[in-house]
Order: sequence, then C-alpha cells, then structure tokens
Amino acid sequence: MHPLRGGYIIPREEVGKGVPRREGAARLGIMGGPFDPIHYGHLVTAEAARTEFDLAAVIFVPAGHPPHKKDHRLTPARHRYLMTVLAVATNPWFEVSRVEIDRPGYSYTIDTVQEFRRRYGEATELYFITGADAILEILTWHRVNDLLGLCQFIAATRPGYHLDGLGQVLASLTPEERGRIHLLEVPALAISSTDVRERVRRGRSIKYLLPEAVEHYIYKNRLYLENGEEEVTEE
Ligand code: ATP
Ligand code: MG
Repeated sequence: MHPLRGGYIIPREEVGKGVPRREGAARLGIMGGPFDPIHYGHLVTAEAARTEFDLAAVIFVPAGHPPHKKDHRLTPARHRYLMTVLAVATNPWFEVSRVEIDRPGYSYTIDTVQEFRRRYGEATELYFITGADAILEILTWHRVNDLLGLCQFIAATRPGYHLDGLGQVLASLTPEERGRIHLLEVPALAISSTDVRERVRRGRSIKYLLPEAVEHYIYKNRLYLENGEEEVTEE
C-alpha cells in the first residue's frame, strides 16, 4: 500500500496524525538548516513549496553539527529544535524531526535523505527544499549524484543571492539529474538568521521577522546576546 495513503500510518514522530492524505503520488518535503533561529523566510519558502508541489507534509530538520557552518557558533540544539517546534505549531502540514540533532558527528544532507528514504520507502517522492544559496553549496559537495538519485530539489530564489553559479553547476549534471532540480519563486523575503541574531545583539526589534512565540523564546532564554547561550559550546 502507498505509504502516505490509506491505512498506512506515517511514523508519529515524523508526521503528525493530522496531516491530510492526498490522492496520487505521495510527496514529502524536507527542509534542513541550522535554523538559528527559524524565521519567516524559512516558513514562507516551505509553505510555497508545499502548495506548489502538492507536498503531503514538510518536515523541518534542524541541523546537528553542520560541517560547513564555521562562521558562527551554533546555539545548542535543544534551543534550535524548540524554536522550530514553536514556529511550525500552527501549520498542520509542518513537522519537526530530531534525526540530525540526535545523530552524533557531522550532519550530512545525504545521510538525512537516506534516513527518510528508509523510513518512507520507494513509493514516496522526497523533495529537499533549500534556498538558492544552499543548493549551490549542496550541489558542489561530493556524492551529489547519489543525492539526486534519492530526492529531488526545490531551490527557492532568495533576494540578494544570485543564481550565476547555479548555471555552471547545472551544466555539469546530466539532463536527467537537472530535471530533478526545480526552481521556485517565493515572495521576496530578505530575512536571514544572521540578521536576526545581529538585531538581538544590538537590541533592535525582530518583531514580524519570525513568529511571536520564537521571539519570546529568544528573549526568555537570552539567546544571541554577548554573554548569552550562544557562547556555550555546542552540546
Ligand atoms: P544564516 O544567516 O545563519 O545562514 P539563514 O537565514 O540562511 O541563516 P539557514 O538555517 O541557514 O537560514 O537556512 C536553512 C534553509 O533555508 C537554507 O536552504 C536557506 O537557503 C533557506 N533560507 C533561509 N532564509 C531564507 C529566505 N529568506 N528565503 C528563502 N530561503 C531561505
Ligand atoms: Mg544560511
């Protein structure tokens, strides 16, 4: 039986019971990232991908220890996970997975996609949702051909990031592989986690850049301040 249809129950830790079942091929969206913190750029992108590509659900996967994030110390995973849970709470099609934060060692996209492939089986189409900047990084990593064999990509255009490099990377792929990368225009949102962290540090407002619950969580836990939690070494 089709994994997202009929009597099959999706593992509860991954997709909530309230996720509507769709007719036709089951498609699942995966949105990965440090989410330090999650903001409306992520949420708008995931929602646009869900509706444009008819995804049964989008699973947010907060990164554990990304090998390429050396520019700033990551906030402890428990905070990034909880902020993501708070942010998706009002959307019945959004869920959060602990798969990367519970896995020791560096987090690689391919391991995560392979894990979802194992859980949901071959009948489910997996779509990895990224911003246009992130897809360039992913596609220039090794084992990209393996990755494209496991999932398709939805690359959202994001203000300030130019797609120049993407053409070059796409040219190095086979036509079949290229066909598995879809571009998606999302309403212009120049929000970034870097900017949110910077604003908090400087005492500037972050209202309307992210869900209110996340805003309150940041203040309550004194995240992104000079002497706040961010200085704590990653667990
Ligand atoms: P940072 O500034 O710390 O890099 P970020 O805002 O880029 O944070 P990430 O957690 O790094 O957020 O991004 C997770 C995913 O969401 C990536 O695929 C990224 O390209 C995408 N993304 C982030 N912000 C936006 C946005 N405003 N619009 C569309 N996609 C976005
Ligand atoms: Mg980023």
